[in-house]
Amino acid sequence: MSQIIHLSLVVPCYNEQENVCDFYREARKAFDGCGYPVEFVMVNDGSSDRTGEELDRLWKEEKGRDALLTVVHFSRNFGKEAAILAGLREARGEYTALIDADLQQPPEIVRQMVTILDLHPETDVVAAYQSERRESGFMTAAKSAFYRLVNRISEVTMHPDASDFRCFRRSVRDAILSLPENARFTKGIFAWVGFTTYYIPYEVRQRHAGVSKWNFIKLFRYAMEGIIGYTVSPLKWPLIPGVGCTLAGIAALIVQAVRAALGVDVRFGVIVSLLVFFFGLIMLTLGVIGEYLARVYLQDKNRPVYIVRKVLRTDGDPAGGKD
Ligand code: UDP
Ligand code: MG
Repeated sequence: MSQIIHLSLVVPCYNEQENVCDFYREARKAFDGCGYPVEFVMVNDGSSDRTGEELDRLWKEEKGRDALLTVVHFSRNFGKEAAILAGLREARGEYTALIDADLQQPPEIVRQMVTILDLHPETDVVAAYQSERRESGFMTAAKSAFYRLVNRISEVTMHPDASDFRCFRRSVRDAILSLPENARFTKGIFAWVGFTTYYIPYEVRQRHAGVSKWNFIKLFRYAMEGIIGYTVSPLKWPLIPGVGCTLAGIAALIVQAVRAALGVDVRFGVIVSLLVFFFGLIMLTLGVIGEYLARVYLQDKNRPVYIVRKVLRTDGDPAGGKD
């Protein structure tokens, strides 16, 4: 069966036995009568419950009906980011959408996203943001502090309320897949690859069944990934006190020399000045090492130097989205 698939829905699933079939049914229903082929890519991220069996059963049913469904089973739990990556590699659609399996994100919103992409060729990504966060005050404050920090110190800007619930063109999918890094922080990757993004609000629903797989520790580690993966500036921070203390140490030593010439006892002053000077030198050296390390780190990520959105040529077909 070879047909042009308009949309692929990539769904990471980890211990979602009560959700996967209901999700699939509801999401299919949301696209009833849409008039374009929709493919589902469900990734079973090493679930320890019956998610795998449920997906296999669904796959058998859908195979009989010729519905487009791909199921990927991991050998163990590798995490949502890995599941998203596997799903993106499998997705064949003109557009790809990322959506969770727990029905917190309404599938009808994806249909709206597709309509926006259909109507607006200049938009490459439609991202949904939570119009109202349903979390504790502490979590909201922690997340807002994280985004303030990351947006201030990194080269990319992340929308504080947007998640990875979004729909994008093939060129964006290819750009994301062109980043070979292992530590994947999808939101950061989206910000890094750029493209024109349109934000729409959505109201997050209650989890259909089961519990969230995140806790504060997991989120904290994930947040660290977001900072370390998108900025090298902490490596350079010692440079500032380094330069400052070295200069201050030199100035203090000159002052001590003048005081000594005037016959003042400068033993204590000289010791303190030398301490400041050498502390400055150590920090300076750390900052210089940081500069080198930052370059090695960035090179090691092996990210493309740039991402092309579109190329227009007067001779031949326009090509776009490839780097
Ligand atoms: N998920 C996954 N692997 C994991 C953890 C989560 O594939 O290790 C999936 C999960 O099945 C769900 C989505 O990622 O479809 C979001 O997870 P969850 O609902 O637990 O997160 P929350 O909505 O609470 O942020
Ligand atoms: Mg959820």
